[in-house]
Amino acid sequence: MRHRIAVVGGGPAGLAFARVMHRHDYPVAVLERDPAPDARPPGGTLDLHERLGQLALDKAGLLAELQALSRPEGQAMRILDTDGTVLRDWRPRPDDRANPEIDRGQLRDLLLGPLDVRWGQGVTQVVPGNRDGVLVQFADGRQETFDLVVGADGAWSRIRPAVSSVTPHYTGVTSVETSLDDVDTRHPDLARLIGDGSVAVYGVNRSLVAQRNSGGHVKVYAKFRAPLDWHTDLDLADTEAVRSSLLALFDGWAAPVLELLSHGTAFVHRPFYVLPVSHTWAHVPGVTLLGDAAHLMPPLGAGANLAMLEGAELAESIATGPGESLDEAVRAFEEQMWARAGRWAKITTDGLERLVSPDPAEALALFDQVQPS
Ligand SMILES: Cc1cc2nc3c(=O)[nH]c(=O)nc-3n(C[C@H](O)[C@H](O)[C@H](O)COP(=O)(O)OP(=O)(O)OC[C@H]3O[C@@H](n4cnc5c(N)ncnc54)[C@H](O)[C@@H]3O)c2cc1C
Repeated sequence: MRHRIAVVGGGPAGLAFARVMHRHDYPVAVLERDPAPDARPPGGTLDLHERLGQLALDKAGLLAELQALSRPEGQAMRILDTDGTVLRDWRPRPDDRANPEIDRGQLRDLLLGPLDVRWGQGVTQVVPGNRDGVLVQFADGRQETFDLVVGADGAWSRIRPAVSSVTPHYTGVTSVETSLDDVDTRHPDLARLIGDGSVAVYGVNRSLVAQRNSGGHVKVYAKFRAPLDWHTDLDLADTEAVRSSLLALFDGWAAPVLELLSHGTAFVHRPFYVLPVSHTWAHVPGVTLLGDAAHLMPPLGAGANLAMLEGAELAESIATGPGESLDEAVRAFEEQMWARAGRWAKITTDGLERLVSPDPAEALALFDQVQPS
Protein backbone atom coordinates (compact mmCIF):
# COMPACT_ATOMS: atom_id res chain seq x y z
CA MET A 1 0.00 0.00 0.00
CA ARG A 2 1.26 3.47 -0.93
CA HIS A 3 0.80 6.17 1.71
CA ARG A 4 0.70 9.91 1.00
CA ILE A 5 4.11 11.07 2.21
CA ALA A 6 5.69 14.52 2.16
CA VAL A 7 9.19 15.51 3.16
CA VAL A 8 9.65 19.18 4.06
CA GLY A 9 13.14 20.40 3.09
CA GLY A 10 15.43 19.51 0.21
CA GLY A 11 18.73 19.47 2.12
CA PRO A 12 20.88 16.36 2.65
CA ALA A 13 18.25 14.70 4.89
CA GLY A 14 15.20 15.34 2.72
CA LEU A 15 16.90 14.52 -0.57
CA ALA A 16 18.45 11.29 0.74
CA PHE A 17 15.02 10.24 2.01
CA ALA A 18 13.28 11.07 -1.27
CA ARG A 19 16.01 9.50 -3.40
CA VAL A 20 15.94 6.16 -1.58
CA MET A 21 12.13 6.18 -1.71
CA HIS A 22 12.42 6.85 -5.45
CA ARG A 23 14.77 3.88 -5.79
CA HIS A 24 11.97 1.76 -4.34
CA ASP A 25 9.36 3.32 -6.67
CA TYR A 26 7.63 4.98 -3.75
CA PRO A 27 6.43 8.53 -4.58
CA VAL A 28 7.12 11.33 -2.09
CA ALA A 29 6.27 15.04 -2.29
CA VAL A 30 9.47 17.04 -1.65
CA LEU A 31 8.43 20.50 -0.42
CA GLU A 32 11.28 23.01 -0.51
CA ARG A 33 11.14 26.68 0.41
CA ASP A 34 13.97 27.78 -1.91
CA PRO A 35 12.66 28.80 -5.35
CA ALA A 36 15.38 26.84 -7.19
CA PRO A 37 18.28 24.47 -6.42
CA ASP A 38 20.88 27.23 -6.85
CA ALA A 39 18.89 30.01 -5.16
CA ARG A 40 21.50 30.26 -2.36
CA PRO A 41 25.24 29.53 -2.25
CA PRO A 42 25.37 25.85 -1.31
CA GLY A 43 27.98 26.18 1.51
CA GLY A 44 31.32 24.51 2.14
CA THR A 45 32.68 21.09 1.34
CA LEU A 46 31.50 18.01 3.29
CA ASP A 47 33.48 14.92 4.20
CA LEU A 48 31.34 11.82 3.83
CA HIS A 49 32.13 9.12 6.37
CA GLU A 50 32.30 5.52 5.26
CA ARG A 51 29.69 4.34 7.75
CA LEU A 52 27.39 7.38 7.58
CA GLY A 53 27.12 9.54 4.44
CA GLN A 54 28.70 6.96 2.14
CA LEU A 55 26.37 4.28 3.47
CA ALA A 56 23.42 6.56 2.70
CA LEU A 57 24.61 7.04 -0.88
CA ASP A 58 25.06 3.28 -1.19
CA LYS A 59 21.43 2.82 -0.15
CA ALA A 60 20.52 5.34 -2.86
CA GLY A 61 22.60 3.43 -5.44
CA LEU A 62 24.95 6.41 -5.83
CA LEU A 63 28.24 5.18 -4.37
CA ALA A 64 30.04 4.90 -7.71
CA GLU A 65 28.97 8.44 -8.63
CA LEU A 66 30.28 9.68 -5.27
CA GLN A 67 33.61 8.01 -5.88
CA ALA A 68 33.88 9.72 -9.26
CA LEU A 69 33.05 13.18 -7.85
CA SER A 70 34.65 13.23 -4.42
CA ARG A 71 38.15 14.32 -3.44
CA PRO A 72 39.92 11.77 -1.21
CA GLU A 73 43.00 14.02 -1.15
CA GLY A 74 40.79 16.65 0.51
CA GLN A 75 41.06 14.64 3.75
CA ALA A 76 44.56 16.13 4.23
CA MET A 77 44.83 18.22 7.38
CA ARG A 78 47.57 20.60 8.48
CA ILE A 79 47.70 22.26 11.89
CA LEU A 80 49.78 25.36 12.51
CA ASP A 81 50.73 27.21 15.64
CA THR A 82 49.67 30.86 15.75
CA ASP A 83 53.26 31.81 14.83
CA GLY A 84 52.97 29.74 11.64
CA THR A 85 54.98 26.69 12.81
CA VAL A 86 53.63 23.47 11.30
CA LEU A 87 52.55 21.23 14.20
CA ARG A 88 50.89 18.43 12.21
CA ASP A 89 50.79 17.66 8.48
CA TRP A 90 48.56 14.65 7.94
CA ARG A 91 47.95 13.28 4.45
CA PRO A 92 45.74 10.35 3.51
CA ARG A 93 47.17 7.29 1.77
CA PRO A 94 46.33 7.27 -1.97
CA ASP A 95 43.74 4.51 -1.44
CA ASP A 96 42.15 6.10 1.66
CA ARG A 97 38.43 6.54 1.01
CA ALA A 98 37.33 6.83 4.66
CA ASN A 99 36.15 10.47 4.54
CA PRO A 100 36.46 11.92 1.01
CA GLU A 101 35.29 15.50 0.49
CA ILE A 102 32.53 16.59 -1.88
CA ASP A 103 31.16 20.06 -2.61
CA ARG A 104 27.68 20.53 -1.23
CA GLY A 105 26.37 21.65 -4.61
CA GLN A 106 27.69 18.48 -6.25
CA LEU A 107 26.14 16.34 -3.53
CA ARG A 108 22.80 18.14 -3.90
CA ASP A 109 22.78 17.62 -7.68
CA LEU A 110 23.75 13.98 -7.25
CA LEU A 111 20.86 13.37 -4.85
CA LEU A 112 18.41 15.44 -6.91
CA GLY A 113 18.93 13.34 -10.07
CA PRO A 114 15.43 12.35 -11.23
CA LEU A 115 13.58 13.78 -8.22
CA ASP A 116 10.69 16.09 -8.89
CA VAL A 117 11.09 18.68 -6.10
CA ARG A 118 8.30 21.20 -5.50
CA TRP A 119 10.48 24.34 -5.32
CA GLY A 120 9.27 27.56 -3.72
CA GLN A 121 6.85 25.75 -1.38
CA GLY A 122 7.66 26.99 2.10
CA VAL A 123 5.71 25.24 4.84
CA THR A 124 4.60 27.31 7.83
CA GLN A 125 3.28 24.53 10.07
CA VAL A 126 1.82 21.05 10.24
CA VAL A 127 -1.22 20.01 12.24
CA PRO A 128 -1.37 16.29 13.05
CA GLY A 129 -4.40 14.38 14.29
CA ASN A 130 -6.96 15.36 11.65
CA ARG A 131 -9.42 12.72 10.41
CA ASP A 132 -7.87 12.80 6.94
CA GLY A 133 -4.24 12.86 8.12
CA VAL A 134 -1.64 15.55 8.82
CA LEU A 135 -2.49 19.01 7.54
CA VAL A 136 0.37 20.93 5.91
CA GLN A 137 0.01 24.71 5.72
CA PHE A 138 2.02 26.58 3.11
CA ALA A 139 3.33 30.13 3.21
CA ASP A 140 1.03 31.06 0.29
CA GLY A 141 -2.05 30.02 2.29
CA ARG A 142 -2.69 26.63 0.62
CA GLN A 143 -3.22 23.45 2.63
CA GLU A 144 -2.67 19.80 1.81
CA THR A 145 -3.06 16.55 3.74
CA PHE A 146 -0.65 13.62 4.03
CA ASP A 147 -0.40 10.34 5.96
CA LEU A 148 3.17 11.15 7.00
CA VAL A 149 5.07 14.44 7.05
CA VAL A 150 8.83 14.15 7.48
CA GLY A 151 10.39 17.36 8.81
CA ALA A 152 13.82 17.70 7.19
CA ASP A 153 13.74 21.49 7.28
CA GLY A 154 16.88 22.14 9.27
CA ALA A 155 17.80 24.06 12.41
CA TRP A 156 14.78 26.35 12.52
CA SER A 157 12.28 23.64 11.57
CA ARG A 158 8.62 24.59 11.17
CA ILE A 159 7.69 20.92 11.61
CA ARG A 160 9.48 20.40 14.96
CA PRO A 161 6.83 22.27 17.04
CA ALA A 162 4.34 19.52 16.13
CA VAL A 163 6.39 17.02 18.16
CA SER A 164 8.60 19.03 20.53
CA SER A 165 8.60 22.44 22.22
CA VAL A 166 12.42 22.53 22.35
CA THR A 167 14.23 25.27 20.39
CA PRO A 168 17.94 25.68 19.54
CA HIS A 169 20.22 27.58 21.92
CA TYR A 170 23.49 29.41 21.26
CA THR A 171 26.70 27.48 22.05
CA GLY A 172 28.79 30.57 22.83
CA VAL A 173 30.84 29.99 19.66
CA THR A 174 30.43 32.08 16.53
CA SER A 175 31.87 31.66 13.06
CA VAL A 176 32.50 34.35 10.49
CA GLU A 177 33.04 32.86 7.06
CA THR A 178 34.65 34.14 3.90
CA SER A 179 35.77 32.61 0.59
CA LEU A 180 38.65 32.74 -1.84
CA ASP A 181 38.34 31.90 -5.53
CA ASP A 182 41.00 30.58 -7.94
CA VAL A 183 43.32 30.24 -4.99
CA ASP A 184 46.02 28.41 -6.97
CA THR A 185 46.45 31.22 -9.48
CA ARG A 186 45.41 34.26 -7.45
CA HIS A 187 46.89 33.37 -4.06
CA PRO A 188 49.57 30.69 -4.62
CA ASP A 189 51.12 31.22 -1.16
CA LEU A 190 47.79 30.58 0.50
CA ALA A 191 47.21 27.60 -1.79
CA ARG A 192 50.47 26.10 -0.51
CA LEU A 193 49.56 26.90 3.10
CA ILE A 194 46.20 25.16 2.75
CA GLY A 195 47.51 22.16 0.81
CA ASP A 196 45.06 19.62 -0.69
CA GLY A 197 42.63 19.70 2.22
CA SER A 198 42.42 21.93 5.27
CA VAL A 199 44.62 24.05 7.45
CA ALA A 200 43.68 24.92 11.03
CA VAL A 201 45.28 27.28 13.53
CA TYR A 202 44.16 27.18 17.15
CA GLY A 203 44.60 30.03 19.63
CA VAL A 204 43.02 30.95 22.95
CA ASN A 205 39.23 30.70 22.50
CA ARG A 206 39.56 31.17 18.74
CA SER A 207 40.62 29.37 15.59
CA LEU A 208 41.10 29.97 11.90
CA VAL A 209 40.30 27.14 9.51
CA ALA A 210 40.58 27.14 5.71
CA GLN A 211 39.15 24.32 3.64
CA ARG A 212 39.67 23.64 -0.02
CA ASN A 213 36.56 22.98 -2.12
CA SER A 214 36.79 21.88 -5.77
CA GLY A 215 37.87 24.26 -8.54
CA GLY A 216 40.32 26.30 -6.43
CA HIS A 217 37.54 27.60 -4.15
CA VAL A 218 38.42 27.89 -0.45
CA LYS A 219 36.21 28.58 2.53
CA VAL A 220 37.79 30.34 5.51
CA TYR A 221 36.18 30.14 8.94
CA ALA A 222 37.13 32.43 11.84
CA LYS A 223 35.65 30.84 14.96
CA PHE A 224 35.65 32.41 18.40
CA ARG A 225 33.88 32.46 21.74
CA ALA A 226 31.75 35.56 22.09
CA PRO A 227 28.37 36.67 23.41
CA LEU A 228 25.64 36.55 20.79
CA ASP A 229 25.60 40.35 20.59
CA TRP A 230 29.41 40.70 20.09
CA HIS A 231 28.82 42.73 16.92
CA THR A 232 26.53 45.45 18.28
CA ASP A 233 29.05 48.14 17.30
CA LEU A 234 29.84 46.56 13.94
CA ASP A 235 27.94 46.70 10.66
CA LEU A 236 28.09 43.06 9.53
CA ALA A 237 27.32 44.13 5.96
CA ASP A 238 30.44 46.33 5.88
CA THR A 239 33.11 43.95 4.58
CA GLU A 240 36.08 46.14 5.48
CA ALA A 241 34.76 46.81 8.98
CA VAL A 242 34.30 43.07 9.59
CA ARG A 243 37.76 42.34 8.19
CA SER A 244 39.36 44.92 10.52
CA SER A 245 37.46 43.56 13.48
CA LEU A 246 38.63 39.99 12.71
CA LEU A 247 42.22 41.08 12.14
CA ALA A 248 42.12 42.79 15.54
CA LEU A 249 40.68 39.63 17.11
CA PHE A 250 43.54 37.53 15.68
CA ASP A 251 46.17 40.21 16.32
CA GLY A 252 49.66 38.79 16.86
CA TRP A 253 49.12 35.70 14.68
CA ALA A 254 51.63 35.05 11.88
CA ALA A 255 51.19 37.25 8.80
CA PRO A 256 50.80 34.31 6.34
CA VAL A 257 47.94 32.98 8.50
CA LEU A 258 46.21 36.37 8.67
CA GLU A 259 46.42 36.55 4.87
CA LEU A 260 43.53 34.06 4.93
CA LEU A 261 41.32 36.93 6.09
CA SER A 262 42.72 39.57 3.78
CA HIS A 263 41.17 38.73 0.41
CA GLY A 264 37.57 37.63 0.89
CA THR A 265 35.01 40.00 -0.62
CA ALA A 266 32.19 39.18 1.81
CA PHE A 267 31.80 37.79 5.31
CA VAL A 268 28.94 35.62 6.56
CA HIS A 269 28.12 35.62 10.27
CA ARG A 270 27.10 32.19 11.60
CA PRO A 271 26.60 31.78 15.35
CA PHE A 272 26.54 28.08 16.26
CA TYR A 273 23.22 26.98 17.70
CA VAL A 274 22.39 23.48 18.95
CA LEU A 275 19.50 21.44 20.28
CA PRO A 276 20.06 19.74 23.65
CA VAL A 277 22.18 16.56 23.45
CA SER A 278 19.87 13.53 23.16
CA HIS A 279 16.82 15.53 22.11
CA THR A 280 13.85 13.12 21.83
CA TRP A 281 10.07 13.51 21.88
CA ALA A 282 6.92 11.53 22.57
CA HIS A 283 6.07 9.89 19.25
CA VAL A 284 3.35 11.71 17.29
CA PRO A 285 1.63 9.58 14.62
CA GLY A 286 2.02 11.09 11.16
CA VAL A 287 4.99 13.39 11.88
CA THR A 288 8.70 12.76 12.31
CA LEU A 289 11.97 14.67 11.99
CA LEU A 290 15.34 14.03 10.37
CA GLY A 291 18.75 15.72 10.44
CA ASP A 292 19.22 19.16 11.97
CA ALA A 293 15.49 19.48 12.62
CA ALA A 294 15.80 16.52 15.01
CA HIS A 295 19.28 17.00 16.50
CA LEU A 296 21.10 20.19 15.52
CA MET A 297 24.66 19.81 16.82
CA PRO A 298 27.98 21.67 16.51
CA PRO A 299 29.28 21.56 12.91
CA LEU A 300 32.12 19.11 13.42
CA GLY A 301 31.72 16.89 10.41
CA ALA A 302 28.71 14.78 11.42
CA GLY A 303 25.46 16.69 10.78
CA ALA A 304 25.04 16.16 7.04
CA ASN A 305 26.32 12.59 7.33
CA LEU A 306 23.75 11.71 9.97
CA ALA A 307 21.02 13.58 8.10
CA MET A 308 21.62 11.56 4.94
CA LEU A 309 21.86 8.21 6.68
CA GLU A 310 18.66 8.90 8.60
CA GLY A 311 16.88 9.85 5.39
CA ALA A 312 18.04 6.64 3.71
CA GLU A 313 17.17 4.45 6.70
CA LEU A 314 13.70 5.91 7.18
CA ALA A 315 13.00 5.41 3.48
CA GLU A 316 14.15 1.80 3.59
CA SER A 317 12.12 1.00 6.65
CA ILE A 318 8.98 2.47 5.06
CA ALA A 319 9.50 1.06 1.57
CA THR A 320 10.91 -2.35 2.42
CA GLY A 321 10.04 -2.83 6.12
CA PRO A 322 8.89 -6.33 7.16
CA GLY A 323 5.16 -5.74 6.71
CA GLU A 324 4.80 -3.43 9.70
CA SER A 325 2.47 -0.43 9.62
CA LEU A 326 3.73 2.99 8.55
CA ASP A 327 3.54 4.19 12.14
CA GLU A 328 5.46 1.18 13.48
CA ALA A 329 8.20 1.74 10.88
CA VAL A 330 8.53 5.40 11.88
CA ARG A 331 8.58 4.57 15.61
CA ALA A 332 11.34 2.00 15.18
CA PHE A 333 13.33 4.44 13.04
CA GLU A 334 13.03 7.20 15.66
CA GLU A 335 14.45 4.95 18.42
CA GLN A 336 17.43 4.10 16.24
CA MET A 337 17.98 7.74 15.17
CA TRP A 338 17.80 9.07 18.74
CA ALA A 339 20.38 6.60 20.05
CA ARG A 340 22.94 7.30 17.31
CA ALA A 341 22.37 11.06 17.13
CA GLY A 342 22.66 11.31 20.93
CA ARG A 343 26.13 9.74 20.76
CA TRP A 344 27.24 12.14 18.01
CA ALA A 345 25.76 15.17 19.73
CA LYS A 346 27.87 14.34 22.79
CA ILE A 347 31.01 13.81 20.67
CA THR A 348 30.56 17.07 18.75
CA THR A 349 29.60 19.10 21.83
CA ASP A 350 32.72 17.91 23.65
CA GLY A 351 34.71 18.49 20.44
CA LEU A 352 33.60 22.11 20.14
CA GLU A 353 34.64 22.72 23.75
CA ARG A 354 38.14 21.47 22.90
CA LEU A 355 38.53 23.08 19.46
CA VAL A 356 37.58 26.57 20.59
CA SER A 357 39.09 26.40 24.03
CA PRO A 358 41.06 28.52 26.52
CA ASP A 359 43.84 25.93 26.03
CA PRO A 360 44.83 25.48 22.36
CA ALA A 361 46.72 22.28 23.29
CA GLU A 362 43.27 20.69 23.71
CA ALA A 363 42.60 21.08 19.98
CA LEU A 364 45.87 19.39 19.09
CA ALA A 365 45.20 16.57 21.55
CA LEU A 366 41.78 16.03 19.98
CA PHE A 367 43.31 15.88 16.52
CA ASP A 368 45.85 13.29 17.70
CA GLN A 369 43.04 11.26 19.24
CA VAL A 370 40.90 11.07 16.08
CA GLN A 371 43.70 11.17 13.47
CA PRO A 372 46.75 9.43 14.88
CA SER A 373 49.65 9.64 12.44
C1 LIG B 1 29.97 25.86 8.74
C2 LIG B 1 29.38 24.49 8.73
C3 LIG B 1 30.16 23.41 8.35
C4 LIG B 1 29.63 22.12 8.36
N1 LIG B 1 30.42 21.07 7.97
C5 LIG B 1 29.91 19.82 7.98
C6 LIG B 1 30.69 18.70 7.55
O1 LIG B 1 31.85 18.83 7.15
N2 LIG B 1 30.13 17.47 7.57
C7 LIG B 1 28.87 17.26 8.00
O2 LIG B 1 28.39 16.10 8.02
N3 LIG B 1 28.07 18.30 8.40
C8 LIG B 1 28.57 19.55 8.40
N4 LIG B 1 27.78 20.61 8.79
C9 LIG B 1 26.42 20.35 9.25
C10 LIG B 1 25.48 20.20 8.07
O3 LIG B 1 25.55 21.33 7.23
C11 LIG B 1 24.04 20.01 8.53
O4 LIG B 1 23.99 19.11 9.61
C12 LIG B 1 23.17 19.47 7.38
O5 LIG B 1 23.11 20.42 6.34
C13 LIG B 1 21.79 19.12 7.88
O6 LIG B 1 21.03 18.70 6.79
P1 LIG B 1 19.44 18.84 6.83
O7 LIG B 1 18.95 18.29 5.54
O8 LIG B 1 18.93 18.26 8.10
O9 LIG B 1 19.17 20.40 6.95
P2 LIG B 1 19.56 21.60 5.97
O10 LIG B 1 20.81 21.32 5.27
O11 LIG B 1 19.46 22.83 6.79
O12 LIG B 1 18.40 21.60 4.88
C14 LIG B 1 17.11 22.03 5.22
C15 LIG B 1 16.36 22.36 3.94
O13 LIG B 1 15.02 22.68 4.31
C16 LIG B 1 14.62 23.86 3.64
N5 LIG B 1 13.61 24.52 4.48
C17 LIG B 1 13.82 25.17 5.64
N6 LIG B 1 12.66 25.61 6.13
C18 LIG B 1 11.71 25.22 5.28
C19 LIG B 1 10.29 25.37 5.28
N7 LIG B 1 9.65 26.01 6.27
N8 LIG B 1 9.58 24.84 4.24
C20 LIG B 1 10.23 24.17 3.24
N9 LIG B 1 11.57 24.01 3.21
C21 LIG B 1 12.30 24.52 4.22
C22 LIG B 1 15.90 24.67 3.48
O14 LIG B 1 15.80 25.62 2.44
C23 LIG B 1 16.91 23.57 3.20
O15 LIG B 1 16.98 23.27 1.82
C24 LIG B 1 28.29 21.91 8.78
C25 LIG B 1 27.51 23.00 9.14
C26 LIG B 1 28.04 24.28 9.12
C27 LIG B 1 27.17 25.44 9.56
